[in-house]
Amino acid sequence: MDFSEPGEIADIRAAVRALCADFPGEYWRGLEPDRHPTEFVQALTDHGWLAALIPEEFGGSGLELGAASAILEEVCASGCNAGACHAQMYTMGTILRHGSAAQKAAYLPRIAGGELRLQAFAVTEPDAGSDTTAIKTRARKVDGGYVVDGQKIWTSRAEHSDLMVLLARTTPAEEVEKRTDGLSVFLVDLRDRGSELTIKPIKTMINHATTEVFFDGLELPPESLIGTEGQGFRQILDGMNAERVLIAAECIGDGRFFIDRATAYAGEREVFGRPIGANQGVQFPLASAHMAIEAANLMRWKAAWLYESGEPAGAEANMAKFLASEASWQAANAALDTHGGFGFAAEYDIERKFRETRLYKTAPINNNLIQAFVGQHVLGMPRSY
Ligand SMILES: Cc1cc2nc3c(=O)[nH]c(=O)nc-3n(C[C@H](O)[C@H](O)[C@H](O)COP(=O)(O)OP(=O)(O)OC[C@H]3O[C@@H](n4cnc5c(N)ncnc54)[C@H](O)[C@@H]3O)c2cc1C
Repeated sequence: MDFSEPGEIADIRAAVRALCADFPGEYWRGLEPDRHPTEFVQALTDHGWLAALIPEEFGGSGLELGAASAILEEVCASGCNAGACHAQMYTMGTILRHGSAAQKAAYLPRIAGGELRLQAFAVTEPDAGSDTTAIKTRARKVDGGYVVDGQKIWTSRAEHSDLMVLLARTTPAEEVEKRTDGLSVFLVDLRDRGSELTIKPIKTMINHATTEVFFDGLELPPESLIGTEGQGFRQILDGMNAERVLIAAECIGDGRFFIDRATAYAGEREVFGRPIGANQGVQFPLASAHMAIEAANLMRWKAAWLYESGEPAGAEANMAKFLASEASWQAANAALDTHGGFGFAAEYDIERKFRETRLYKTAPINNNLIQAFVGQHVLGMPRSY
């Protein structure tokens, strides 16, 4: 077993870190509460990092999943927020895996080149979060395409995207044998829309540009359907493993940020005449969080390796996301405690990253649902959801 990191990944890390150095804490603080980090996303796009997973024939760099995940890890470890752009990496996979040759040729090179932004992924609805098959947004087949009516919620980055991947019901739930049937995936052009598509921002505890999207008779041409009508749930599901690995890598990066900042502070800050890091009460939570991050990181690389080898990776990808998000949250709390009152001061960036990393226990999938998945599919226990 070889745990050494290939030189290619070390090069990626160094280059991403150099780019992120132009976007220090002051930049992110200046955006709060909700200005979009347009310059940062543009810089990543210009350097080709968001096209990492797009094959070279379509103008991307055709990296493997593990190497691509190192990009997002370094973004987070540098104190930046990958939430503003990570979706392009995994949403694009829907076109790559299920799009027709014409759709790939029409969109992938323009996404890779930065001409089109594909950052929005509309699945969740007010009454359908963890239970995706309960979605009600309806795409009715009509002469000349589809007409969409319904509502999505938590559609992040829709205001900063040209294209959106949409999951909608093409056959009503009452008319299908299984609720996982009758769902379809569409690529929606968000530019030049009228009142049939309304986007409303939702204020949250983080700068995430998340929104509600209302569809009122939105007409879609037939070529906006991706893959096979009625098979959308499975199409979305098979992109999830890559997404889980990428999110795990972000959490590992966040965790490294917290540990780096907190250990430095623990060495400098003197209380009762000695560095606070000399106290076990300060040192042990950081050591413990570091171990949790390292362990989660092993699962992340195992999941990436399985995925890249074409092996089933569902269990490991889910476990990596769970372990990494729990570890980064552990590190966030240890870092906040280490900084004492200063942990709450915006200028230290701990409280901002604390809020940002908390999201990953909840989204894109709640950690409860991962435990339910592992209980049922890995341990063979009764279905709980
Ligand atoms: C900032 C932000 C950005 C997001 N961005 C996007 C996006 O871009 N696109 C998108 O489609 N969605 C997005 N989401 C939505 C996210 O994926 C959902 O919030 C998440 O899947 C959970 O769904 P829910 O909020 O409806 O919670 P619910 O499904 O209502 O669950 C509420 C709680 O009950 C628990 N629970 C429910 N059933 C069970 C069970 N059987 N066993 C154990 N526990 C259970 C859940 O784990 C959770 O703790 C985003 C969410 C946030 C907060």
